[in-house]
Amino acid sequence: MAGIADHRDLEQGLADPHLLADLPPGAAADKPPVIAGFIPDLAGAIVVTTPSEVASDVVQKSVTYARDMGIKVLGIVENMSEYRCPSCGELNELFEGNTEAMCEALDLPLLGRIPFDRTLARTFDKGEPLLDETYPTIQRYQDIAGRIRTLLDYKRVLAEQL
Ligand SMILES: [Zn+2]
Repeated sequence: MAGIADHRDLEQGLADPHLLADLPPGAAADKPPVIAGFIPDLAGAIVVTTPSEVASDVVQKSVTYARDMGIKVLGIVENMSEYRCPSCGELNELFEGNTEAMCEALDLPLLGRIPFDRTLARTFDKGEPLLDETYPTIQRYQDIAGRIRTLLDYKRVLAEQL
């Protein structure tokens, strides 16, 4: 039987809540303004890409679009950066794009890279997501979350000084 989280865990999580909305790629141009309209103090957008030229075109459009809307883009996350071998855990290349160059051109930080990981994907498919913080791919997510938190904290400090 599944355990129920202690209510203190829940309160701790709610002390500094963040709402994340996963939006479709740039083509669905009506979605960001609709969402933005519901969130008056929208902290910013995080753009997820894959290291391929096609994705990089869409990302550049999305970033331009967000900036035109006055939405701050916090940074870029590269998904499917590599392939983690389910047998030995070794990372191998999947695509040959250059996300660093794109980030530099857009003047945005690269918040992190997430490998394609069948071991992790399988646990999600089974409805029992792997949540072990010591697992290397999970660690990547934690690092990205930490960087986003730092950016949001920094933004809040700046706002309080005004
Ligand atoms: Zn292997």
